[in-house]
This record gives sequence, structure tokens and C-alpha cells, in this order.
Amino acid sequence: MYVTYLECSRCGARHERGRLHNLCRECQAPLLVRYDLERAARTLTRDALPGRVASLWRYREVLPVVDGASIVTLGEGWTPLVHARRLGERLGMSRLHLKDESSNPTGSFKARGMTAAVSMAGELGAERLAVPSAGNASGALAAYAAKAGLEAHIYMPRDVSRVSIVECMQYGAHVVLVDGFINDCGRLIGEKKEREGWFDVSTLKEPYRVEGKKTMAYELAEQMDWTLPDVLLYPTGGGTGLIGMWKAFDEMEAMGWIDSRRPRMISVQAEGCAPIVNAFDAGADTAQAVAQPATVAAGLRVPVAIGDFMILRILRQSGGCAVSVSDDEILSSVREIGSAEGIFAAPEAGACVPALRGLLERGEVGREERVVLMITGSGLKYPHLWSDLP
Ligand SMILES: *Cc1c(COP(=O)(O)O)cnc(C)c1O
Repeated sequence: MYVTYLECSRCGARHERGRLHNLCRECQAPLLVRYDLERAARTLTRDALPGRVASLWRYREVLPVVDGASIVTLGEGWTPLVHARRLGERLGMSRLHLKDESSNPTGSFKARGMTAAVSMAGELGAERLAVPSAGNASGALAAYAAKAGLEAHIYMPRDVSRVSIVECMQYGAHVVLVDGFINDCGRLIGEKKEREGWFDVSTLKEPYRVEGKKTMAYELAEQMDWTLPDVLLYPTGGGTGLIGMWKAFDEMEAMGWIDSRRPRMISVQAEGCAPIVNAFDAGADTAQAVAQPATVAAGLRVPVAIGDFMILRILRQSGGCAVSVSDDEILSSVREIGSAEGIFAAPEAGACVPALRGLLERGEVGREERVVLMITGSGLKYPHLWSDLP
């Protein structure tokens, strides 16, 4: 056991390990897990890693589970880092890489968060789990809850991809369709959870999905031989992966694995729902809610992110920025990635390509720099976006 305590991301209040937590009881902000990294680094060494399991659980000492028997795994993580030669050529770049998350169980990087959250919820005694979702989080929760023998209660906007609904039902989850957006789904769960005895696994409202997602940074560093890219583009909804990766960089530095250099972190959003871009451009520390969020990239249709202040701080500290792209650009870039690299990307991930193109044109990213695009999920769950084909 390497977890020391949980720390509030805003007020710094400490919360004890070993029991279920949602937000900080003092100020209602997300909690982050702190570890005894000095002790973790005794067994978790760079040299020990090649012999370990080919999943994100290879970084066991910096993950929260106490008893190995509590781990609920479907083989998530340790995904390929692909040198995108042909896509790079089209953009005039030679060092473009894709972190291909589409091969995760349930087809997206949401599996990383849910393996950690469901393992911990089970270890700490929760039996009924609930989540609001735009699609991919629901499939991941449903699958991991099934594997663990726990109940999954899923609230999704009514216009979510049919595939996501079918998928959740085949995992035996309880599905409710809501006339509204993901924040409306979250509110409904908030109103019902006490009465129903549900544990809310909304992203950042429990501390462990961030821990699962942070392993993308451990993998990047390991796959890049303990260096980091110059620039990292992340399609940002709630920002959990971005916050997690930044946390992991600090942990790796504390363990002596990397130096203090960091990638410039770039949040990519859709023009129809770009609260982080608006706040970044306005120089604000928090984001304003978007009233009518609209984009084909369902995972980016997040009008309010409770970790907004962390996302904005990371973008600025890293020397990065936030950019938005149109739905037309998103849809055509999915084909661009697919036809160049043989990876069918989710539209959220597709957004990274037009974003990068704009940054290259404005000279904000150099063509010789090492750039990683986070391909956060598979396009296979979005057939409705291309249903006009013959
Ligand atoms: C959820 C999701 C995102 C956004 O992830 P956050 O960490 O919440 O910002 C991006 N891409 C896909 C495919 C997703 O499912």
C-alpha cells in the first residue's frame, strides 16, 4: 500500500485513504491521490518494467488498489505508440506519433479510468455504481461492473449513439435515457443516489478515474525511452486524462525517472462546445458553462468541467494553449487518419488533426517537433455519423 492520503485539488484539505470519497467535504472540489513515491520507487524501477504485465497495472505501486485480488481488469492500457509516417508526411512532419487508445477493452481510454474506479469501489465496499455518460464512459463502466459483479446505473442523453445503448444493455447495465445533456444526467444521479444507495463514479467526482487515465503518461515516457514529446494534443471534455497525465509527469520526476521538462499541453475542443478554449483566450481561471453544446464528438460535448481550473492551469504552466475545430473538420479528419494510418479514430480524437494543422500554419508548433496526438477511442461506435453512405 503506497497511498498516503487524498488531497483536495483546490483547498489542499487532506482526506483519509481506505474509505469511499466523492468531492472534498470542505470545498466540493475533486480529490487527488497522493503516494509515498520514495517507497514506491524502491520496487517500481524503470528496469523492472519490461518484465511486467502488458496492461496499465504494470505501474501497480502508483495505482490505488491495496489487495491485488481487488483488481478488476480486462487487459486495458499498454496501448501502441505509433509513428504516423504517412499522416506526418501530409502535414510536413517527420516525428508525429499517435497514442492509439482504440484497442482498449470497450473501444476507448475510458477503460483506463474505469478499471481503477471499479476496482477501488469494490475494494471499499460499494455495490451499486452510477455514471452520467455521453457514450464511452457508460460502456466502460458497464463492462467493468459486470466483471466485478456490481450493479451499473447509466444515465445518457437520449441522442447518444445506439451502439452505446446496445453495448450497455449487453453488459447487463441499467440504462436511463435523458432529454438533456451530460450535466443534466449528472444532476439526476445526484438527486437519486442517496435514496438508491448508488456510488457516483462521475469523472473527477471520485478520485480514481484520474489514476487510471494518468497511466497514459507513464506509458508514453516508457515507450519514448524516458523522454517526453515536445507537444501533446488532447481532445478535452472533462479533462480527466490531461489532469492525470500532468500528475503522472510530476510523479515520474519525483521518482527520478524524467527531468523537469514537460510537453506543451494543447486542449482540443469542438467549436460548438469550447468552454476551455473560451476561458483560455479570455485569460480566465475557470470556465463559463456553454448553454447549447453541439458537436458530433459526443465525448467533447461537456458544457461544464469541474476540473476546469486545473485544466487551465496546466495549459498555461506547460506553455500550451486551447484550440477549437469545426464538426466538418472533425468528420473529414477521421478519414484522413484512417486512410493514412489504418486506425479508425473516434471523432473526438479526429479533432486533433485540424487543430495541429492550424498550429503548424500559425507557427505555434514546429514541423520538426515531436508531437503526440491522443487517439482516445475507436470510431466503430459512431456509425450514425456516416449513415448517409451507400
Ligand atoms: C471521454 C472522451 C474524451 C474526453 O476525455 P476527458 O478526459 O473527459 O476530457 C475524448 N475522447 C473520447 C473518445 C472520449 O470517450
